[in-house]
Amino acid sequence: MTMNSMELKKLEEENPKLKDLEAAKDVVWVNPHKLPFAEAVKKQELTSEDIRDAEERLKRFAPLIMKCFPETEKTNGIIESPLTAIPDMQKHMEEKYQVQIPGRLFLKQDNALAIAGSVKARGGIYEVLKHTEDLALEHGLLKEGDPYDKLARPECREFFSAYTVQVGSTGNLGMSIGIMSAAIGYKAIVHMSADARQWKKDLLRKHGVTVKEYQADYGEAVKEGRALSDADPKSYFVDDENSQNLFLGYAVAASRLEKQFAKQEITVDGEHPLFVYIPCGVGGAPGGIAFGLKQKYGDNVHCFFVEPVQAPAMLLGMMTGLQNKIAVTDIGLSGLTEADGLAVGRPSGFVGSVMEPHLSGEFTLQDDDLYRYMKDLLDTEGVFLEPSACAMFTGPRNLLAAEETAEYIQKNGLADKMKNAVQLVWATGGSLVPDEVRESYVKKAESLK
Ligand SMILES: *Cc1c(COP(=O)(O)O)cnc(C)c1O
Repeated sequence: MTMNSMELKKLEEENPKLKDLEAAKDVVWVNPHKLPFAEAVKKQELTSEDIRDAEERLKRFAPLIMKCFPETEKTNGIIESPLTAIPDMQKHMEEKYQVQIPGRLFLKQDNALAIAGSVKARGGIYEVLKHTEDLALEHGLLKEGDPYDKLARPECREFFSAYTVQVGSTGNLGMSIGIMSAAIGYKAIVHMSADARQWKKDLLRKHGVTVKEYQADYGEAVKEGRALSDADPKSYFVDDENSQNLFLGYAVAASRLEKQFAKQEITVDGEHPLFVYIPCGVGGAPGGIAFGLKQKYGDNVHCFFVEPVQAPAMLLGMMTGLQNKIAVTDIGLSGLTEADGLAVGRPSGFVGSVMEPHLSGEFTLQDDDLYRYMKDLLDTEGVFLEPSACAMFTGPRNLLAAEETAEYIQKNGLADKMKNAVQLVWATGGSLVPDEVRESYVKKAESLK
């Protein structure tokens, strides 16, 4: 479907912010469809029970993960990332941008997740494992109660080598699915969009993954991959736009975070609100994480997504209510951004409808700001993130300064609680970026001054 000018005009009348979005301005949007958690929860198909089930499955697979990836031995095969306070970055941003960032600012370092080096290690690896369990149970490779590291035996790998796993990706999902699939023994094919960085393709090929390259965007790579996979009965397609498994894998983050909060004596309750900012592409990762957090913290957590000004797919879908029936190209945007992980023109309709009553709002930002935040974090805290992951800093920067979100804070009775706020920026990737690519990013940041 493409938008005609009449339809667009109508949308513009209904949505005063749409013109700013079309003009690729920095937009701050508060979701008018958000409901109190007690009401939102009634609209959900997925539940806390589904998330617990996913968490239990990851525990069952921990011995196999440890065997395939010895770097996970120190966490007993559980793939989790550190939670770090970043007071120096907080102070730096307050001074540089002349804003107030109340409460404490924390970084959730999914850039450091084992195996895939990005948030995709959550959803992607979970989905490959779920598929593996289904196959293994169906074909008698596993019985209930068996230790799952059994699946590393040669006869099991031989069995899995007859099966293929395929996925369409802008880069990081491909790395997560590709590396995990190859480790189990599957044939893995990753369909990479034009945005995908060369080093990600090279790394996958080193793992024995077949990488198919497309000149087109992410939507096309997915379409092609799905068609090829559907034509092969022994091939499984990981559907980033519609997969509940991916979503649940991401959602497990919430109970892991809850444990980290407890350990670090960080309180989240009615007096200590939690603000979370997550970069958004098609929506699965931020949606799953935010959904999980809402189940834990209800009205005490406020989730915001962040997207590049040229690829605000989820925001456009949410704002117009059209979800995946509208693409950024329909409003004259290019979909092109240096934030390769966020270079998505059409959002997941599944995630959009699940998140509609839960999401607090969205921010968009210019590409140059990605590099500025990247360099400032490196200088103040010594942490390197890939540009996509740096998008989230625009959230805490603007929360009090922007009229829309300032009003959100007033309306929700949060003003006097902000000094106790836990502000969490979700760093979605970076540890696998090769040194020479890092250096080129830093150079680019320095050229911006
Ligand atoms: C994939 C990705 C995201 C967003 O995840 P979606 O599921 O596409 O919304 C954010 N940051 C990075 C670095 C990513 O790779």
